[in-house]
Amino acid sequence: MLLEVERLEASYGASQALFGVDLAVSEGEVVALMGRNGMGKTTTIRAVCNLTPPHGGAVRFAGEPLRGMAAHRVARLGIGLVPEGRRCFPNLTVAENLVAAARPGKWDFAAVTALFPRLAERRGQMANTLSGGEQQMLAIGRALMTNPRLLILDEATEGLAPVIRHDIWAAIRNLKQGGESILIVDKTLPELLPVADRCTVLENGRTVWTGRPAELGTDIQNRYLGV
Ligand code: ATP
Repeated sequence: MLLEVERLEASYGASQALFGVDLAVSEGEVVALMGRNGMGKTTTIRAVCNLTPPHGGAVRFAGEPLRGMAAHRVARLGIGLVPEGRRCFPNLTVAENLVAAARPGKWDFAAVTALFPRLAERRGQMANTLSGGEQQMLAIGRALMTNPRLLILDEATEGLAPVIRHDIWAAIRNLKQGGESILIVDKTLPELLPVADRCTVLENGRTVWTGRPAELGTDIQNRYLGV
């Protein structure tokens, strides 16, 4: 198992957000982390990466316990996070943003710009002059440049123009075909479910269901996803 999360608990100050999240991603698997707004998806991701350090439960990555480890060390172990609201260096060019993130491996400038040709076209442009969707592509490209063993995408297509969303989903399908291990949060179920090998559903900070997309019946969707 690449990522194993057991009974994870986390809080913001006195306010507890996670009460027992169980989640697993195996090598080469795409897992969709689902649930209505405020159910704990982003907090789970932050807790896995120790950006919001958990106070209960266990997280192991490739067998190594992550709890208590500094967030930058978690990243170096091979977790590539594309956080909600995408972060790039605004005053660096596209190429500089990508190169600044680089670590050795198959994902280099050529591979990332082959996945996102728009980034090749805009390689000399400052990141802050890109459209929102192009910035999202750059954020995913930066995460890939670190050659992560696990890519985490938190709402990577939210609020983007339809054409760009289409391109980003195509890239995600390419990543899946290439055998990348991915944990993904996204509200667009018609795009999300076909790429997911497994779904884990959260309700009020707890895992309430996990299974294959084909098993995600309308009862579960109505009860936990408000579909
Ligand atoms: P969304 O789809 O809206 O992003 P989510 O499933 O990712 O939702 P979280 O953002 O993880 O949910 O929120 C889980 C709970 O933690 C919610 O009750 C939320 O209000 C609370 N929460 C999130 N961020 C903070 C914060 N910075 N400070 C305090 N409470 C927070």
